[in-house]
Amino acid sequence: MTSTSSPPQSQGASSDETPSEIQVVLPDGSKKALPAGATGADLAKAIGPGLAKAALAIRVNGEIRDLQRPLTDGATVSILTNKDPQALDVLRHSSAHALATAVRQLFPQAQIGFGPPIEDGFYYDFDIGRPFTPEDIEAIEKKMVEVLKADYPFVREEVSRAEAKKRFRDDPLKLERIDDLADNEIISVYTDGPFVDLCRGPHVPSTGKIQHFKLLHAAGAYWRGDERRQMLQRIYGTAWFSKEALEQYLNRLEEARKRDHRVIGKQLDLYSIQEDIGPGLVVWHPNGAILNFELRRFIEDIILQRGYQLVYTPNVTREQLFLRSGHLPLYAANQFPAMAAGEGESEDVRYRVKPMNCPMHILIYASQQRSYRDLPIRLAEIANVYRNERSGTLHGMLRVRGLSMDDAHIFLREDQIEEEIFNLLDIVELVMGKTFGLQYRLDLATRPEKKLGTDAMWEIAEKALEGALKRRGLPFKMDVGGGAFYGPKIDIKFNDAIGREWQGATIQLDYELPERFKLEYTGNDNKPHRTVMIHRAIFGTLERFVGFLIEHFAGAFPLWLSPVHDRRWPNGRRARGARHAAPGGDSLPSRRALRDTELQDPRRRDSQGAVHGGGGAAGGGSKVGRGAGSRGRKQTSCDAGC
Ligand SMILES: [Zn+2]
Ligand SMILES: [Zn+2]
Repeated sequence: MTSTSSPPQSQGASSDETPSEIQVVLPDGSKKALPAGATGADLAKAIGPGLAKAALAIRVNGEIRDLQRPLTDGATVSILTNKDPQALDVLRHSSAHALATAVRQLFPQAQIGFGPPIEDGFYYDFDIGRPFTPEDIEAIEKKMVEVLKADYPFVREEVSRAEAKKRFRDDPLKLERIDDLADNEIISVYTDGPFVDLCRGPHVPSTGKIQHFKLLHAAGAYWRGDERRQMLQRIYGTAWFSKEALEQYLNRLEEARKRDHRVIGKQLDLYSIQEDIGPGLVVWHPNGAILNFELRRFIEDIILQRGYQLVYTPNVTREQLFLRSGHLPLYAANQFPAMAAGEGESEDVRYRVKPMNCPMHILIYASQQRSYRDLPIRLAEIANVYRNERSGTLHGMLRVRGLSMDDAHIFLREDQIEEEIFNLLDIVELVMGKTFGLQYRLDLATRPEKKLGTDAMWEIAEKALEGALKRRGLPFKMDVGGGAFYGPKIDIKFNDAIGREWQGATIQLDYELPERFKLEYTGNDNKPHRTVMIHRAIFGTLERFVGFLIEHFAGAFPLWLSPVHDRRWPNGRRARGARHAAPGGDSLPSRRALRDTELQDPRRRDSQGAVHGGGGAAGGGSKVGRGAGSRGRKQTSCDAGC
């Protein structure tokens, strides 16, 4: 390979149009004059020596760039230091280059793939003809320290396609990438010391800016994520701005490793995924089934008190239904292939296992005439759906092919949206906040550029969602343009015990499916009106939520969920579980637990009906939370003591 590091070519285009002086607009709105051709680094120097030292990159008209690139007249600029989260991405991406620099020194024949920043770190893909060993990783890390100490500047050049191909003639993966670039795309390469890479940038000024990093592990990864292509070896690393941040992260990783739901799931005999049954298909063992059972009952009790109706629908359906809903052919890649029809049906009829429940719930709604007075109609089903996820993306209970969704579809009038969302947020708070004590946040995703329906329609929907969020007094973040093309949505994200963020429930408005299925209700004007539809799941899937619970509680579940009530978990897990249940005070008594209590209390022996009737677990909203607190504590002390 070529390792020449020729000096940067002159930036012809920009110097042509610039006069002898340029002006840039700083974040506070003030203007700063600089000589033509001045770079981001020059600007930082002109502002002050402290900033010149701290500067890592620069935002120019919203785009993050290297400090060494010349600024343009009139640009709005902001220098990024280690105070900016976006600078951390630049640092991590630069770390990936430093990693590749080290790998190429130790393995000159290594082929190089991609090296992006990722959440909490970076990776780079290599092909050295075999997997990396732990000793390799150690040696590479040592070499990487040398690369950082050498403080190689990252030098950017723009090159022609022919030049790029010449430079990377020994790197087939890079050549393939070059062929993918559009004709008008500017091709840039970056050199740090002996290493040159095809890259859009940006990077920190030099490798010396990377000070706190660690290589974590290596794993096989298909080139471009495609299982038909060759397997590369991906090295993961992490980089931070301070020693403390790095150490905190490594501790968190260690903690996460101890909480891995796949390990605890096996220790507690909760579930398995077996080769004979198939990847991504969770088998719930008796202990895990109790968690599944309790969560179902818990959510069903809540929604039945709130005007939902349970429905059950088949696991397979005629393919035609998904063509009508538009899920085929659009999501064909995520559906299992079609099956032939049974005897007595036309050979043209094919069946599919269902990837979602919406069309069937829609047909229940459409099975009779609906009046404005009937709405909202809320159909709920904890249903098994199947998605043909790539085997490489599957991960324990967190990413599966067989999903148990706590699904519901709400059919309503436009003027009911706000109230319904308001009520849904109440369920979210009861489940996530009061019961599991989770810190969660809400994102309101609004209309994207490509969308269905009129702006007026979106205006009403977005206002209704926003109105409900405000009435609830919940802080939320606007995700402008982040909505689906068929409607705005609210995404719920929450943090676990060690600070990791999880994607939770979604409340999704939908204007498309009612249109496709011509869903109507008769208004008080006696005319037909188009129904609005909401898709919502609170847990999401039971698999993913239980996977989360295992990691969040490190296996020490709140008592009402605990698979075993009368035995202690090994290693004092029981006692820790008790601690988890008490402070939140929000663990609900399950029917299972109630039954135990009832059996011990002769006065309540015949009172099982009360479970549904308003006493015990069936109290409304926040009352459930409060009642549960004391019950949870009572059971705790009993459990820990006996
Ligand atoms: Zn790069
Ligand atoms: Zn749906």
